[in-house]
Amino acid sequence: MNAAILERTEQAIEGLYRLAYNLWWTWNPKAQDVFKALSERKWRSSNHNATAVLLSLSRQELRARLCELEFLEWIESVIGEFDAYMAKEDTWYADHTGGINGRMIAYFSAEFGLHECLPIYSGGLGILAGDHTKSASDLGLPFIGVSLFYRNGYFQQMLSPDGWQHESYPLIDQKNSPAKLVTDENGNAITATVEIGHSIVSFHAYRLNVGRAVIYLLDTNRPENDLHYREITSRVYGGDSTTRVMQEIILGIGGVRFLRKLDRHPTVYHMNEGHSAFLTLELLREKLAEGRNKEEADEAVRRECVFTTHTPVPAGHDRFTPDLLDHLMLGFRKSLGLNHQELMAYGRERPDDDHETFCMTVLALRMSRTANGVSELHGRISREMWSQFYGKEDPADVPIGHITNGVHTLGWMAQRTRQFWHKHLGVKWIYYLKKEAIWKQVSDPELIPDEEIWALRYGLRRDLIEYVRRMVRHQFHRTGADFNAVQDSILNPDALTIGFGRRFATYKRAPMFFRDFNRVVDMINNTDRPVQLLFAGKAHPRDDMGKKFIQEIVGYGKNPALFGKVVFLENYDINVARHMISGVDVWLNTPRRPMEASGTSGMKIVIHGGLNLSIQDGWWREGFDGSNGWAIGEDAHSDDQEYQDEQDVLRLYELLEQQVIPDFYDRDEFGQPRKWIQRIRKSMETLIPRFNTDRMVSEYVSRYYDVNQ
Ligand SMILES: *Cc1c(COP(=O)(O)O)cnc(C)c1O
Repeated sequence: MNAAILERTEQAIEGLYRLAYNLWWTWNPKAQDVFKALSERKWRSSNHNATAVLLSLSRQELRARLCELEFLEWIESVIGEFDAYMAKEDTWYADHTGGINGRMIAYFSAEFGLHECLPIYSGGLGILAGDHTKSASDLGLPFIGVSLFYRNGYFQQMLSPDGWQHESYPLIDQKNSPAKLVTDENGNAITATVEIGHSIVSFHAYRLNVGRAVIYLLDTNRPENDLHYREITSRVYGGDSTTRVMQEIILGIGGVRFLRKLDRHPTVYHMNEGHSAFLTLELLREKLAEGRNKEEADEAVRRECVFTTHTPVPAGHDRFTPDLLDHLMLGFRKSLGLNHQELMAYGRERPDDDHETFCMTVLALRMSRTANGVSELHGRISREMWSQFYGKEDPADVPIGHITNGVHTLGWMAQRTRQFWHKHLGVKWIYYLKKEAIWKQVSDPELIPDEEIWALRYGLRRDLIEYVRRMVRHQFHRTGADFNAVQDSILNPDALTIGFGRRFATYKRAPMFFRDFNRVVDMINNTDRPVQLLFAGKAHPRDDMGKKFIQEIVGYGKNPALFGKVVFLENYDINVARHMISGVDVWLNTPRRPMEASGTSGMKIVIHGGLNLSIQDGWWREGFDGSNGWAIGEDAHSDDQEYQDEQDVLRLYELLEQQVIPDFYDRDEFGQPRKWIQRIRKSMETLIPRFNTDRMVSEYVSRYYDVNQ
């Protein structure tokens, strides 16, 4: 054993710790493979948690294993890539600002969906926040996220044999998580406090590194707090409206206070949805304490805040009764020097109306210099919804714009797909995700032959089916049913595979596909042109209607006519989503317009060669161009829901029977579906460069973050 190798292994071990405590690995498959190689069992059992894998290995084992030179070199090359990423100075942001920008963006969100091993998200809003952060890092923004550390996270879904959803809330094992307690130089937790009612509640925070970005997760689970305050941050959107207000006090007011403890003074506060809007009141308190009068202080807060709204219906906005707010905000209100009426006025559309509730969206709109919806249609709907509040007769005059959502392409990309693009576009394309010229090349069959696209599709569909069979096997084993007898009849690797994965909110109309049951059975069971459907999704724990939808679909999957052809996968999360979005041929989305403010899952399939079949709502209304997928129905909707449902389902069946299924099975003498592949090219070329978070974050920078105040 020579000393040089010993020195290298020690450095590589240090490097592994840097890697394991930075979620950069979540969008770099080479890094994931390192941890998977270290302990495959731990990798799987920890839900792919690099930190847990590393901490499960003794120093002794690491030293020994890294003496295998090829392994060591592999690890060194990954660490080299990571260190180079972290040190990169010529980022998009540096280039954009010419390097003379002293800004810092604080992004507040009640949830962050970063990886399956950290279940601190419930759905699309959290995924968006996670993808926003990853792109902020890739683009080099000075960026801090703030959220809550939900010890029990969001629930895991289990289905009973009759298809009813049950929830469990496993504890996040913080010691094995990539989130590290924020401490002072003596190793003691840094804490801050907020007033809740008459009490003082204290909290600490965990730090997550996400590439170059940082997220602080606040946690009230401290010994000095009363028991019920320790539980405030335990579940994502847990409990009743009292818990909700308390969570929002911690997030908004506590978040700003914690940043101050770290001597952080962001120049922009971005509220991702209204949950964090109390932050504006803490900023207001600071400015009043500096001796400004109320008007000046309001104005100064407004200059620092931007707000993104996600909710297209009035009922979706957080509203709290005057009593509840008076009770919980008492201590804070006093420190602010406002009376009850004055405080309530900030969250009321009509400040003088004593009966009006306190709306977090109203607070956010009132205290931001700019606000936006998350798609063009959602921007318009939001302007209509808030025109009265702004006192504008014409909604067009309401100062709410839109920035359409995106996805962090690299984080959603299957390994197989990544290799495909490396092969055809070289290794540099990952830096040019939003460059249209790069993706124009996809239309060139010389560069990428049809056969290669079709081979990719087959490979990805096969990967998905094997995954589904593994998962269904677990579901079978729990119920004691015999899996071996049926496993090969679960999904057909040659069949047109349609995916539907999303929260089971009722407006998403999951069971709509089955409205004309006999017609559907015929479609699915056509022996020459079989069709199969894969469903997944969680219903909110208190949403019995959503749970009934799940049960209905599980029931179809058990119907002998549809067994193995309609499959419901349990526990939809980032991992399940990642498998589904890469393997399906068609992604079905049937929201009731205009309820899907943007939707993002359909964007994730495009890089893998999947095609969208969706209502013209949210992003798809902008993405669809007639040749790159299919639109169900028109760019309009009726207020008569029953009528609209009926129309939408008829259009859906027509599209499937007359276009989607025939095109998929229209093969030439080489077995190639030329028309289908042409549509895939169109989809990639037109959608990849637009619907990603690099484009989205760069728009936030130019239009909202970087505007001279
Ligand atoms: C992408 C994603 C969502 C959001 O999808 P929508 O299309 O907005 O419904 C929700 N949950 C998970 C796990 C996702 O990956």
